[in-house]
Amino acid sequence: MQTVTTITDVRKRVAEAKATGHSIGFIPTMGALHEGHLALIRRARQECGFVAVSIFVNPTQFNEKRDLEVYPRPLEQDLLSSAEAGADLVFAPEVGEIYPAGFATQVVVDSPLTKAWEGYFRPGHFAGVTTVVAKLLHIAQCDRAYFGEKDWQQLAVVNQMVRDLSLPTVIVSCPTVREADGLAMSSRNARLSAESRKTAKVIPYLLDTAQDLLDSVTAETQTDKGPVIAAWLRTLLESNAPEAKLDYLVVVDPETLAEVDEITERALVIIAVHIGGVRLIDNRVIVRR
Ligand code: AMP
Repeated sequence: MQTVTTITDVRKRVAEAKATGHSIGFIPTMGALHEGHLALIRRARQECGFVAVSIFVNPTQFNEKRDLEVYPRPLEQDLLSSAEAGADLVFAPEVGEIYPAGFATQVVVDSPLTKAWEGYFRPGHFAGVTTVVAKLLHIAQCDRAYFGEKDWQQLAVVNQMVRDLSLPTVIVSCPTVREADGLAMSSRNARLSAESRKTAKVIPYLLDTAQDLLDSVTAETQTDKGPVIAAWLRTLLESNAPEAKLDYLVVVDPETLAEVDEITERALVIIAVHIGGVRLIDNRVIVRR
């Protein structure tokens, strides 16, 4: 595996790989790699001839300076894990390589998709994401790019951008990888105290309960309605983790992320909650069966 820091070097390696007939798989990350990231790399390894990973803590998608400052950056360990998972190339640029002096372009998905939920609670976040992802996709010239369903709204926004701009990359969505107790893996989990880590189990518990509520619907409970399920879950959160500070917990359409009333086939439960000062997000598709 090779590590490069310049756009020129990525282009050179990718061009060489293409010249030998390889398809290019690309996984954009912010590093602090865990099994969730590595699952994306392994999937790309299975499906592509050449696998490139980027490790770049993108400052423009952080709406809180403190969050950016404390974001973990264990580069040496990340390089070892990337190699083990099967990456051929890691692109680990400095901020100035991606945003040189005078950088002035933004790629913005201007739709309700970027205004609700993460977009509402993290102003400017999605503009930062789409700008850097558009730039990275151009740099990597990839056939396939791999994203996690853990960040479902981000995936929906990236899909919209790729469709709108007719980018030639296929976006591959990959299931959320979880800890043994169900907590979604996240680089932010390392910042949870032992006590908060225990409390965080409430998140997968709520998401599983959403499916149970839908399964046990009766005319009386009306738990086939998004707002009814969401209200149940909020009450459960309050009783199980009164110290948690909720940003949102709603039942939405998996494609548009607009709130849904009656669930006829499937819906998505999304949650963002602060536990012990760490903001965690998660989601789960629930199915009417
Ligand atoms: P990040 O480094 O947080 O920007 O994440 C890089 C990619 O890894 C994104 O596409 C995430 O959705 C994905 N990812 C992060 N955590 C997980 C997880 N637990 N399971 C699957 N994919 C994940």
